Amino acid sequence: MIKELHEKIQSGEISSLELTKKYIKTIDTKNDGINALLEVYKEEALSEARKVDEDVRSGKKIGMLAGIPGVLKDNMCTKGHITSSASKMLENYIAPYNATVVGKLREENTVILGRANLDEFAMGASTENSAFGVTRNPYDESRVAGGSSGGSAAAVASDMAVWALGSDTGGSIRQPSSFCGTVGFKPTYGRVSRYGLIAMASSYDQIGPITKTVEDAAIVFDSIVGEDKKDNTTINKGDGNFFKNLKPQLKGKKIGIIKEMFEKGLNSEVRSVVEKRIDFAKSQGAEIIEIELPHLKYSMSVYYLMVPSEVSSNMARLDGMRFGLCDAIKDGSEKKTILDIYKNSRDAGFGDEVKRRIILGTYALSAGYYDAFYKKAQQVREIIKKELDNVFNEVDVILSPTSPHVAFKIGEKVSDPLAMYLEDVYTVSANVAMVPAISIPAGIVREDKNDLPVGLQLVSRWWNEQELFNIASALELK
Ligand code: GLN
Repeated sequence: MIKELHEKIQSGEISSLELTKKYIKTIDTKNDGINALLEVYKEEALSEARKVDEDVRSGKKIGMLAGIPGVLKDNMCTKGHITSSASKMLENYIAPYNATVVGKLREENTVILGRANLDEFAMGASTENSAFGVTRNPYDESRVAGGSSGGSAAAVASDMAVWALGSDTGGSIRQPSSFCGTVGFKPTYGRVSRYGLIAMASSYDQIGPITKTVEDAAIVFDSIVGEDKKDNTTINKGDGNFFKNLKPQLKGKKIGIIKEMFEKGLNSEVRSVVEKRIDFAKSQGAEIIEIELPHLKYSMSVYYLMVPSEVSSNMARLDGMRFGLCDAIKDGSEKKTILDIYKNSRDAGFGDEVKRRIILGTYALSAGYYDAFYKKAQQVREIIKKELDNVFNEVDVILSPTSPHVAFKIGEKVSDPLAMYLEDVYTVSANVAMVPAISIPAGIVREDKNDLPVGLQLVSRWWNEQELFNIASALELK
């Protein structure tokens, strides 16, 4: 889709202005119901589009994403714009600089249409934790769009944007993609700069694209990858040609399957949709190999120990002093201590889930517990990483469902944090092991007279994005 749009803009067959206007019109009709976008930068988007059209008219060769409208999850600093992370705490916070990914996209003259809704500070799996209202699933508005990048996935699914960026700490790009029928890709940790991404859990967060096709994901990925001096966890891998090198292939590929992932807890209709794609892969010459990863079952425990710990430390900077909401004059009292200001600001600024994680994380990091919890979890993380690395000597990718079910009803899980945490059962391991993973549409399940998308996940070894794209592209529904 992006390639074709790019060619048409470059040849003058369509203008970026027309295209941008078309997407803004869709936003105008659909966003009130879906609530995918928290703000639309109409005038700015139109003037970006005009600039690209001028470049084309003057005979310039434009970049692949130039003039193609997309949206950013609202946790990526966008200079001069509010970057709220869907939190009351940052409701009026105007970013003074661009996140590295935003800077790269701006350089490419892409059109940024606005900021997309998310669970507050990316904590959640349904966008219900947003301080600015839930994002509804475009396939059935009584259901969630998934989370935390629910706004990004819903925007792409409902044609409010050609592409979107999301962030993925434990599944936040892939699970909403599965619920909304989009492609969602989480790169290897260290591929994409996190500079200017409002941190959730720093050793897990990674930014990636949400699009309609695997090819589009590779194109957007090409524009955001690469080493960044401002994020020293990034490294130089000579990136940027994933689209050019895309060669869809299943023949001769070894696809690993973990039996337990297809048993208990998996919705039977979702299972049969995914199994059909496995049969398709076989028919195209892929070899299906059953594998065992005995320590993978500890991924959730590792994640929910380490992530709240890192969250509690990252959230500490939001204290009413330096950033965001400051509740210093509550009660009209002037004799407030600094501690009162911290307490009042954090109490008013953070939602329940954020508070829950701060409490969990502060406990896990407290004196005497650090070794027993965070350090232990880190050790288990290393075991999981090694185990996966070994398995990738036998198989090229691991295939599973992305989520055990289709999009659930709004309100169904809000009062049960554990059920919400279990949403990540298939996705967290890739973050724990820091490896790349992609969710692609696998088919449809019919529920309550609605067609609801089912996603399938592929995971591969560190830095092996190219192969992941090649396999995913051959496996996606055409
Ligand atoms: N649902 C997971 C969580 O709440 C994942 C969030 C994410 O990837 N940002 O932690």
